[in-house]
Amino acid sequence: MKIDIVSVFPEYFEVLNLSLMGKAQSKGLLEITAHNLRDWTHDVHHSVDDTPVGGGAGMVMKPEVWAECLDELLGLADAAGTAAQPTSETSSAAPVLIFPNPSAPLFTQRDATELSRTEHLLFGCGRYEGYDSRIPDYYRAQGIDVREYSIGDYVLNGGEVAVSVMLEAITRLMPGFMGNPDSIVEESYTGEGALLEHRQYTKPAVWRGISVPEVLLSGDHGKVDRFRRDEELARTNEIRPDLIARLDCKALDKADRKTLMALGWEVSAAHPRKLDR
Ligand code: SAM
Repeated sequence: MKIDIVSVFPEYFEVLNLSLMGKAQSKGLLEITAHNLRDWTHDVHHSVDDTPVGGGAGMVMKPEVWAECLDELLGLADAAGTAAQPTSETSSAAPVLIFPNPSAPLFTQRDATELSRTEHLLFGCGRYEGYDSRIPDYYRAQGIDVREYSIGDYVLNGGEVAVSVMLEAITRLMPGFMGNPDSIVEESYTGEGALLEHRQYTKPAVWRGISVPEVLLSGDHGKVDRFRRDEELARTNEIRPDLIARLDCKALDKADRKTLMALGWEVSAAHPRKLDR
């Protein structure tokens, strides 16, 4: 997968050379290039921002600088450096263009899974009060697949952390990325019936007087699976009941239904419904 990132702090992405992401680059699975947005400026101060139209605090990232950069990286600029008319060929070969934005829809495991199958991603990191909203509008109108995602209900100083978060979630789902591919199969938020994962333990069986649940030492795989599944249903019911309400009742087995009913859910319709108690 080819990944281009545009930022006013490209050094920030040196962290991607560490750990599994670094290994994936050495193996040739990932090719990551961080670009400095200021390389596309023409003034002596290399300005990328200006005051907000309509007033207000802070500065907004200018569309002209972003457009010169994105036209080039998207292959939409002609030899003279001016925007070329897009063709169906340029659009279909173009990367998915992603802008992190706290006021956009939430980035989820489903998005990560979908994007892990793409060949080329281009991220644009906002700073200050954000980027001029006409930038994503313009590239959508050119036929580019433009996404804006929030990574959570809080505000960061810039898009760099958000891009790192999304990239880690996306790339670890690529075939060949993880040493043991099974480790991404049974995880929180994963698959159609996504739940929070059960609690995890390692040895010793008793640590500082706290024992692991006895059933995990029984060697009975059926019982262990059922215990873990019930724990997943109970934890999800407590922490993220919205995920339970999205389950497909037809896909639940008899034991799942019994557990959910004991947790106060009605399971005879298409999706579980929490009963008022
Ligand atoms: N004025 C914006 C607002 O109130 O929604 C906040 C801008 S923030 C200080 C600057 C940049 O950081 C944003 O353009 C975006 O790229 C990034 N950013 C901040 N919080 C984020 C979040 N929760 N998810 C994704 N990106 C975020």
